[in-house]
Amino acid sequence: MTVRIGITGAAGRMGRMLAEAIARSDAPAKLTAAIERPESTLLGADMGELLGGDASGVVMSSDLAAVADQIDVLIDFTVPESTLAQAATCAAHGLPMVVGTTGFSDEQAQALATATAGVPLCQASNFAPGVNLTFKLAEAAAKALGNSADIEIVEAHHRHKIDAPSGTALSLGEVVAKALGRDLSQVAVFGREGRTGARDRDTIGFSTIRAGDIVGDHTIIFASEGERLEITHRASSRMAFAQGAVQAACWLVGQSAGRYDMQDVLADQESKT
Ligand code: NAD
Repeated sequence: MTVRIGITGAAGRMGRMLAEAIARSDAPAKLTAAIERPESTLLGADMGELLGGDASGVVMSSDLAAVADQIDVLIDFTVPESTLAQAATCAAHGLPMVVGTTGFSDEQAQALATATAGVPLCQASNFAPGVNLTFKLAEAAAKALGNSADIEIVEAHHRHKIDAPSGTALSLGEVVAKALGRDLSQVAVFGREGRTGARDRDTIGFSTIRAGDIVGDHTIIFASEGERLEITHRASSRMAFAQGAVQAACWLVGQSAGRYDMQDVLADQESKT
């Protein structure tokens, strides 16, 4: 069965990359809807032509409900306010949803969970398979070294990114905090300035760089007396995120209602190979 995929934020950096990833995918998948905000100047544009190719017949529109019967799953990389609006439409039409958008407040994250309780939702701060392996390596390192090491997370992204630290950096923090039995909200330190005093061993530090066109770098450092372990992931193209999200979308169709992340997608596919 060909999986019919809709994209919200279709004209954005990730939206365009997702359309390309669907076109290149080995899985039987097809882009059948492209949604942008009502004020977008690109409404009416053909997605294929927008990407520099032939007309595809998929025309940018702004009303997800109007095309809901043309898609089997929605992929959303937009902004939290838009994701919440699209989630209500997905819930009303029983549509599975893949969410890559980051920067949700606690209240927005809760609202998303509530709105999508009756449909399959796959949400990840990072859909790149390598980052998901980084989470596992960080968890193992935290268990082995964490109580005797200072843990710092450094992330770098392009100048247009609107949230900080990145969702991926926060997920890395959650993974190591959980492995060490710490509550991230109690131990996170976001940047330092002035007379900070000595470092508390139990804290997890976050540093953010915003510059140029950096796609996404993450390093987690475990530093102790005399040695330092660093685990680094660098994304050199958004294609890594887009291919992961398309893989997640194809996997999500046919899953029961509930909440999943990229680790579930990869674990299920590993178990079948
Ligand atoms: P972008 O600004 O290039 O694209 C966002 C698009 O969403 C824009 O085209 C905008 O017009 C559109 N949009 C806004 N409101 C909308 C609405 N109501 N309906 C439809 N479209 C709407 O941003 P981007 O770089 O593509 O990133 C988007 C999000 O994805 C960010 O939160 C970013 O952090 C996240 N991201 C996640 C991953 C991951 O793997 N999870 C990877 C990269 C980026």
